[in-house]
Amino acid sequence: MTQAPLLDRILQRINLQGPMPLSDYMQICMLDPAQGYYTTRDPLGTKGDFITAPEISQMFGELIGLALAQTWMDHGSPAPFTLAEAGPGRGTLMADILRATRGVPGFHDAMRLVLIEASPTLRRIQGDTLADYTPAWTDRIEDLPKRPLFFVANEFFDALPIRQAQRMGDGWAERVVTADDTGLAPGLTFALMTPTPLPELAHRLDDTADGDVIEWSAPAQSVAATVGQRIATHGGAALIFDYGDWRSQGDTFQALRDHQPVSPFEAPGSADLTAHVDFEALARAAAPAVPSLLTPQGVFLERLGITARAQALAKRLTGSALDAHIAAHRRLTHPQEMGTLFKVLALTAPGRPPVAGMTDPERPFS
Ligand code: SAH
Repeated sequence: MTQAPLLDRILQRINLQGPMPLSDYMQICMLDPAQGYYTTRDPLGTKGDFITAPEISQMFGELIGLALAQTWMDHGSPAPFTLAEAGPGRGTLMADILRATRGVPGFHDAMRLVLIEASPTLRRIQGDTLADYTPAWTDRIEDLPKRPLFFVANEFFDALPIRQAQRMGDGWAERVVTADDTGLAPGLTFALMTPTPLPELAHRLDDTADGDVIEWSAPAQSVAATVGQRIATHGGAALIFDYGDWRSQGDTFQALRDHQPVSPFEAPGSADLTAHVDFEALARAAAPAVPSLLTPQGVFLERLGITARAQALAKRLTGSALDAHIAAHRRLTHPQEMGTLFKVLALTAPGRPPVAGMTDPERPFS
């Protein structure tokens, strides 16, 4: 059996340096310049490995565009401002946002479009989709200009590398990736490091028991911190969509290839690796920006009027196009589809009105 080359290189590194944190493994698999999952392909859509909300229906981006423009007006229409998207995929969400906001007086004139994207393949596709709008690209969130920031991300944070640890007494044993030489061919498997106390996980001693697995993502927290700083200092708002919960519990690391779950260690670099997003960690990192109540995606889209928009679009459709449109509406909002699993977190500057369609919590943290 021939080995995938990325697997060889990972095994070589483990041989030399010992087991690696899951975050290093994810980073290599996703973004290796020559063989990483995102660097080498367009993974989205029915022919790809997974499908996302903006690829399901134009309604998703249109409603987000209107919510962002309404919030921009509620905040006094600051100009110029940065409109930024992290991990824009094919550029579909941003194209829908921009089409829906064309009629908002002053919005496009004041906007400077920045896309945060690590993949050269996807940058090219985004450039084609958004050719009319002259976007600028960066792969470092810290490069975002120091001015009002309106930020959106869909299924970006779930792609950022996580680490995992298993609770043992009052310490944590990190789950690391190591060589597996028990099978026919060399492969990879999980191992547990010796338990140590981890100060950054101290708050998780309250809500976990011996043996529980927890996850955390330093890169996700660092992005949230930069976005939060910009918004708190210069104004603006963020809308973050992803699957996950207020506080992450258990092992949610998963690999998806061709719309099917597969082993994350099979053919590294050939499957999408993700984990559920810990929204509390993002909200805490974003301080002094103020988090909204974490809201199910379906509830948010209903508040923004997705049913009225779906009915308006349906008037122009018949036959299979109409059936697909009705199915897309259901898929985005129904509790048994994406409506409840996916959540929305908004961030705004202290003292500013919440993002349209979102509510402030009574107390952000218990
Ligand atoms: N938002 C899009 C695509 C989601 S897939 C949609 O909803 O369809 C994840 C996106 O994040 C891809 O564009 C991927 O290339 C990008 N990405 C993943 N890790 C990244 C990183 N560390 N820095 C910048 N972009 C990243």
